[in-house]
Amino acid sequence: MREAVGVPPPPPLSLTPLEELNRRLVSCRRCPRLVAHRERIAREKKREYRDWTYWGKPVPGFGDPDARLLLVGLAPGAHGSNRTGRMFTGDASGDWLYQALHRFGFASRPTSRSADDDLTLTDCYITAAARCAPPGNKPTHQEFDNCRPHLVRELELLTNVRVVLALGRIGHEAWLRASGWWSRLGGRGRPRFRHGTMTRLPDGTLLVCTYHPSRQNTNTGKLTRRMWYAVFRRARRILDDGET
Ligand code: SF4
Repeated sequence: MREAVGVPPPPPLSLTPLEELNRRLVSCRRCPRLVAHRERIAREKKREYRDWTYWGKPVPGFGDPDARLLLVGLAPGAHGSNRTGRMFTGDASGDWLYQALHRFGFASRPTSRSADDDLTLTDCYITAAARCAPPGNKPTHQEFDNCRPHLVRELELLTNVRVVLALGRIGHEAWLRASGWWSRLGGRGRPRFRHGTMTRLPDGTLLVCTYHPSRQNTNTGKLTRRMWYAVFRRARRILDDGET
């Protein structure tokens, strides 16, 4: 075949630094136990999702790169984001989360069922302490350590964040460690995890704690809809009015 003369080659695909981070992330295989688990789940599937092609890979962060609100969760659910490939998408925790995000103006719709549903986030970005679905929802310390560099890099790139909403104790610790405040503040100065508490960090970032919207918490009443909405209402007011 003759080569076309005078037709410039297509420009190289240029990715933003955040897109580049996510491109690398999805091929990460640093944790053998989690790689085996996420892929096994993707092969075996849950009966009700047998027609799905599971994602079965690390799940990248999702949302607005200019977000002022950052949410930090634990890890993908086996049949939620490990199936759909998008944070908190396709399970009961996600139902709670997106309903609240929509109610308080951060999400374009109140539900999140699949990665191609056109859902967009405004002023909000969602990430997690570990990016691969762990057995029993429990990554090991080593696996959290392995995954932390992804979060560190993500925080470097999310330069507009003002409020961090830690979804559970693990998200809280993950953010403190990845942001560097864990070591800078030391044991006595570190904010403790307690639902509803807010701590202003020395750089002005506000760290807000909430229980994780897992079934374990929402079905038992440990986290009620009222408690949940109160946290998001507060975050909304802080971002809108600077109120704390
Ligand atoms: S949990 Fe993180 S570090 Fe481990 S394999 Fe998944 S993406 Fe890689």
